[in-house]
Amino acid sequence: MRRKIVAGNWKLNGTAAETRQLIRSLRNRLAAIELRADVVVCPPFVFLETAVDAARGSAIDVGAQNVFWERSGAYTGEVSAEMLEAVGVRHVLIGHSERRTIFGESDADVNRKLHRVLGTTLRAIVCVGETLEEREQGLTQAVVKRQVAAALGGAAAGRADRIALAYEPVWAIGTGRTASPETANEVHRLIRAELAGILGRSTADGLRILYGGSVKPDNAASIMSRSDVDGVLVGGASLDAAGFAEIVAAAR
Ligand code: PEP
Repeated sequence: MRRKIVAGNWKLNGTAAETRQLIRSLRNRLAAIELRADVVVCPPFVFLETAVDAARGSAIDVGAQNVFWERSGAYTGEVSAEMLEAVGVRHVLIGHSERRTIFGESDADVNRKLHRVLGTTLRAIVCVGETLEEREQGLTQAVVKRQVAAALGGAAAGRADRIALAYEPVWAIGTGRTASPETANEVHRLIRAELAGILGRSTADGLRILYGGSVKPDNAASIMSRSDVDGVLVGGASLDAAGFAEIVAAAR
């Protein structure tokens, strides 16, 4: 039985005061429900410490939206995994489609980042997913398989308990269009089969694969009811504490 993860990607939003307020409101709401999922929120870098502080003693873990693959040096604007660890961050998103499409992050970059993260105590959520064009050309399976294989290349099964995947079809992110639960589950099964080839079947069976793309309180339960959907990565809807708490409550 894989415990679900409900993760919120706040993207480029908020202020320090809003970060504190959103976490305060979320922790109050979560205290009133029976938690069946790990809960992670990913604010912008500059609010991570504020978030860690506001979440202390609650069920909420804090994640970063990105990380660099070197520890230190002449890399202007970058943040290392060790820096994230030092401020109390526990998770990190790697290879989000906005990083890939807007900032040109490659499969090789994603792999380097994952290796660096696995050298620390952080947990990685590695994002994969096809664009609309790729889906329309019938390339979904090939693209997702390539991204998973490239991201996890050289990763040891012994560290895999700190890896989760997120299947986020690019055409579903921020568009209000969601993959149907059947479509999501089908791709998740494909991802798990690919993971089994890399890490072995029993390790792959234990890994959590989240779905992301316009998840809202009213579709979260049906998506998370599928056998291979082990949680959700939520963008826009994670900025509303009441809605995000409803999504957490939908995890079974
Ligand atoms: C995301 O950014 O990871 C995401 C899934 O966004 P949204 O829920 O807004 O589609």
